[in-house]
Amino acid sequence: MSPVIGLHHITAISASAQGNVDFFGKLLGLRLVKKTVNFDDPGTYHLYFADRVGTPGSVLTFFPWAGVPKGIAGTGETGLTHFAVAPGTLDFWRDRLRAAGVAPVVDETIFGEPRLVSADPDGFAFALVEAAGDDRPGNVTDGIEQASSIKGFRGVTLTLADGAPTRELLTGLMGYREEAREGALTRLVSPGTEAGVVDILEAPERRHATQGAGRIHHIAFRVADRAAQATIRETLTKEGFQVTPQIDRSYFYAIYFRSPGGVLFEIATDEPGFATDESVEHLGEALQLPRQHEHLRSVIERKLPALAV
Ligand code: ZN
Repeated sequence: MSPVIGLHHITAISASAQGNVDFFGKLLGLRLVKKTVNFDDPGTYHLYFADRVGTPGSVLTFFPWAGVPKGIAGTGETGLTHFAVAPGTLDFWRDRLRAAGVAPVVDETIFGEPRLVSADPDGFAFALVEAAGDDRPGNVTDGIEQASSIKGFRGVTLTLADGAPTRELLTGLMGYREEAREGALTRLVSPGTEAGVVDILEAPERRHATQGAGRIHHIAFRVADRAAQATIRETLTKEGFQVTPQIDRSYFYAIYFRSPGGVLFEIATDEPGFATDESVEHLGEALQLPRQHEHLRSVIERKLPALAV
């Protein structure tokens, strides 16, 4: 049995912190659950959007680098983020996106599931998928009731030149099982979680993706705790993957490795979670700094742009 339980978080690059708040917070209704800095570049934000409490499997994070050029879609990356919404809510979402001037908003059906595909102003591509039987509560916010709220991730699509080695990794020691194939798409599912879909889109004719605004930096898979993380780290290392040591990211522990198709994979723990330095009621309100950067607070606060949440 693999200790992996679907997705934990997805981290993308953007060109504007305020743009992320406006699109993912105000328009899509995710909650800004953590406002902190990039631990490796403390002069820039690291923003976390999620359901109301920051449940693993719902956490979308951004490194906003003001004015960074757009990346280019292609192979070797996560090309599409799937959010789960309740069946029957796509009309609400189509109207809401169009009223906000978001375009295009494309209706399609993949593996029998209706979805809307669109993108934010940076080109971050996402699908809102009608996922039956997903009881996650989401987040209630201005203009979005619980019944139509985004519940969390449904999964991702990896765009790869050659899907086979990544498929083997996921269905092998990461515990996914192959569920279906449709054209160039293969659907893999992690059992026992709503955020369990990985679609592999094999597209050998496409160019390799370039990092930049709108592109996904890495995806993190979920394990319960550091012990489970140590177990899978050992297995990966034995299989020949170059895996980082366990790194303390304040809200979870992380290990990173490059998957065979070129996508940066992380494995992150549920422990300790987001309500460690502020209560659930006040998540995301104050700038949180890791201990090693706390002495720089006044310098960092002057450097970061103010956010209108
Ligand atoms: Zn991460």
